Amino acid sequence: VKPAAFAYHAPRRLGEALSLLASLGEDARPLAGGQSLVPMMNMRIARPSHLVDLNGIDELAFIREDTDGVEIGALTRHEEIERSALLERRCPILPGVARTIGHYAIRTRGTLGGSLGLADPAAQWPLVAQLLEARIAVESASAARSLAARDYLCGVFTTALQPGELVVGVSFPVLAAREGWGYRAFTRRHGDFAIVAAAATLALAADGTVEHLRLALGGMGGVPLALSPPADAAKGVTPDERWIRDIAALASAATDPPADVQASAEFRRELAQMLVERALADALARAKETR
Ligand SMILES: Cc1cc2nc3c(=O)[nH]c(=O)nc-3n(C[C@H](O)[C@H](O)[C@H](O)COP(=O)(O)OP(=O)(O)OC[C@H]3O[C@@H](n4cnc5c(N)ncnc54)[C@H](O)[C@@H]3O)c2cc1C
Repeated sequence: VKPAAFAYHAPRRLGEALSLLASLGEDARPLAGGQSLVPMMNMRIARPSHLVDLNGIDELAFIREDTDGVEIGALTRHEEIERSALLERRCPILPGVARTIGHYAIRTRGTLGGSLGLADPAAQWPLVAQLLEARIAVESASAARSLAARDYLCGVFTTALQPGELVVGVSFPVLAAREGWGYRAFTRRHGDFAIVAAAATLALAADGTVEHLRLALGGMGGVPLALSPPADAAKGVTPDERWIRDIAALASAATDPPADVQASAEFRRELAQMLVERALADALARAKETR
């Protein structure tokens, strides 16, 4: 399998890449880690006439703290997120989840921006972006804008990106002092994309009751689903196994998953319940550790 012929461009600056994308039009595609785009080109599912390689643009590869949280450049590899001491301290769900993506070789090439550019509904970064209400920074040759994850993710492999626009970075909030996280996925084989995945954060108040809960599910529809359990079921409750089971049942009941060759809707709902339970149990254990 070989790709159809294409012209290759290797800009060194973001401005140069954006000008190329603007002038080359819809036949041009940005290339990041190539872990999804190159196989699609080899199978001729994608046939761009021009590839604009982002790999030489150092200004897109960064992890830094900003006033409200952490900001990660689009060209940052999954593996760099996995071993970032700053992220481990400020937003440990990010390195924790990065470790679960594919296999090591894929993580050394695949990027945050590429994963969000692809927008696979079962992938880790779209799910975590929904969970944490991340903001996606987007630029074209003529404008820059920042989108909430829920506005950026539009459907299966579909985003709000306009022709000529690139994801340049993503801002995530930091986790609080007594806030734990959990991520659980059901895959057919180790390293595969999830069939269903659940992510959670749970912050405890000083008296051990629930201060703040976030839940999201991947693989349950066109975009990862952020769930908000009823306020009286979460805030002020002392979390235990039974509470976790109840929240997981509420979460699963709030979904309307599709059926496909991988799983029936009913099986997905069962998976959602089990994975939310496990992700919440992990989040609770981690929240207690950080007290
Ligand atoms: C065997 C295998 C297993 C995998 N398992 C998983 C998994 O378990 N979980 C998971 O999440 N992923 C998985 N992946 C995918 C991997 O995470 C890739 O990193 C990801 O799909 C795309 O990132 P990339 O940097 O390689 O992007 P590329 O393949 O280079 O690009 C992907 C798409 O995004 C566009 N794009 C790239 N950069 C930008 C940008 N900055 N702005 C806008 N659009 C952009 C491209 O034009 C293309 O359309 C797997 C891949 C393989 C090959």
